[in-house]
Amino acid sequence: MKKIYLIISAYNEEDNIPLLIEDLKKNISSHELNIEYVFVNDGSRDRTLEVLLEQQKEFQEITIVNQNKNFGHEIAMTAGLNYVVSCNDNSDCKYAVIFMDADLQHPPKIAAEMIELWQSGKNLILTQRTDNDDKGMRYKILGNAYYWLLNFLSDVKIPKNMPDFRLLDKKYVLWINQLNESDRMFRGMLSLVGLKEAHIIPFVAPQRNAGKSKYNFWKLYKLAIDSMIQFSVKPLRLATVFGFLGILASIGFLAYSIYNSWVNNEPKTGFLTLLSIMIFLSSLTILFLGIIGEYIGRIHLEVKNRPLYFNEVIKNENR
Ligand code: UDP
Ligand code: MG
Repeated sequence: MKKIYLIISAYNEEDNIPLLIEDLKKNISSHELNIEYVFVNDGSRDRTLEVLLEQQKEFQEITIVNQNKNFGHEIAMTAGLNYVVSCNDNSDCKYAVIFMDADLQHPPKIAAEMIELWQSGKNLILTQRTDNDDKGMRYKILGNAYYWLLNFLSDVKIPKNMPDFRLLDKKYVLWINQLNESDRMFRGMLSLVGLKEAHIIPFVAPQRNAGKSKYNFWKLYKLAIDSMIQFSVKPLRLATVFGFLGILASIGFLAYSIYNSWVNNEPKTGFLTLLSIMIFLSSLTILFLGIIGEYIGRIHLEVKNRPLYFNEVIKNENR
């Protein structure tokens, strides 16, 4: 029997869940498939868990992976994925996983399209936002700059405007599951595994239904730093390059000032020049210390090898 797992991460989405479930039922249940709705409640502070439990009484196919506290979206998706893998440990059942958000920005209609494509043999289905009704001009410009920098610095190519709305066949699920780094970024991990087989569905992301976006400036900043550092050591190499350039420049300056004082007899003090060069160089040193610190911090977290999350799985009593 073929099975589809929908992994839906939810953090404070009480108002969206009933609507999402209704919409999913409308669009997906017509497919003759075994479907399980895996809601990962990422430590919500509102009534998300209560709403999910109410819905579960009505719909047995809902499983709640209840995170003990808020661990973040990437970890929530990992928890969902681990649940799916653990369910299928000793079975050779064919299955696929669809990741989606709980705020209705990932239209269930497209999830239905993914399922059809999977049944016709596609193993990796990604989506690409052609537009995002939710975000303003500033976000779009910053977003473009971010992807440019990211792909410049990173060793794996990370495609632009691809949200976490995607279908992975079992094969990809097992591959991703082998990556056991504690710093998670699905976009990068997928690129690492390979996107050659990917089928892409373009779509316009509608506005979030209710509630607010959980990605504030600092979360985005962390995501940006994470994605630049996780898949490459280029930022470190950049420090060496700047170091070399600095040495060359200083030799040049030295030669120039010796020439000036010997040949032209011009003993200039150049206090401001010195000051600005000093400030520039020490800021550069601090910047690269910061970058090295980012890597060391990650090594520190990685060697501890702590569990990524704590959760319990809640199923309908009759299952
Ligand atoms: N989310 C989560 N944990 C978090 C932050 C977000 O599980 O710490 C979920 C959130 O409930 C939503 C999805 O991740 O279903 C995407 O978040 P959001 O809509 O805030 O991001 P945006 O669409 O604005 O990029
Ligand atoms: Mg959203």
